[in-house]
Amino acid sequence: PATLYIVATPIGNLGDITLRAIDTLKHVDLVAAEDTRHSGLLLQHLGIQAKLYPLHDHNEQQKAQQLIDRLKSGISIALISDAGTPLINDPGYHLVKACHEQSIRVVPIPGACAAITALCVSGLPTDRFCYEGFLPAKSKARIDYLNQLMEETRTLVFYESTHRIIDSLQDMLQVFGTQRSLVLAKELTKSWETVIQKPIDQVINWLQEDDNRQKGEFVLIVEGYHKNTADDIDPNAIKLLNRLQQELP
Ligand code: SAM
Repeated sequence: PATLYIVATPIGNLGDITLRAIDTLKHVDLVAAEDTRHSGLLLQHLGIQAKLYPLHDHNEQQKAQQLIDRLKSGISIALISDAGTPLINDPGYHLVKACHEQSIRVVPIPGACAAITALCVSGLPTDRFCYEGFLPAKSKARIDYLNQLMEETRTLVFYESTHRIIDSLQDMLQVFGTQRSLVLAKELTKSWETVIQKPIDQVINWLQEDDNRQKGEFVLIVEGYHKNTADDIDPNAIKLLNRLQQELP
């Protein structure tokens, strides 16, 4: 019967695929994937022969309708992304929304997700957190965005790539200052898995000590705002202070 399965795949270590994911990928009529070449290798590793269909961010809206038409003809489809859980900074939102609108069943096959994986080992509060994904690419927009998060008390979870890791951390330093703890989790589940917890300025130093440290995939977790972290100083004063600090030689 017409069913869309949202199937999580590993975020590095191929052992992190679930038994249900393998079973589902084996039995569906079609596997919709972000990068069919990349996913082809995963399926090959699992010994699964599946029909692949490309679905990426820039063609999703248009392709979603084609997939809906096929689902309506009674077939089953599994959606996977390059890594981790689909829809978490990956394609799938339009497709799932359209399925709901057209009463097509959507079944989750849960598994790895970098944000949750990092959060669990961060040592920061996990009872309430905000998933923020990737920050804006341009520094001005990034600073504006971070300023809006300044008084957020929940633990903040960000994704970052090799290219922008230093720039983003420098902007975080400007907005959040040196009082808050930051956890950098890189290459989770892979051979060079590293998790460090330090004030933001020290994390930047750590990355700059060795260029290799800046390579890979990152989750950044920032301690939420607590009134007493800076001796009850008004957050606007801290903002100003951080800004002034940047101006100093
Ligand atoms: N759907 C994925 C998930 O469930 O986590 C996220 C996809 S997003 C396009 C890719 C980003 O996820 C990377 O830039 C990095 O921030 C994070 N990421 C993915 N795998 C990771 C890993 N093994 N270690 C650390 N971060 C990872």
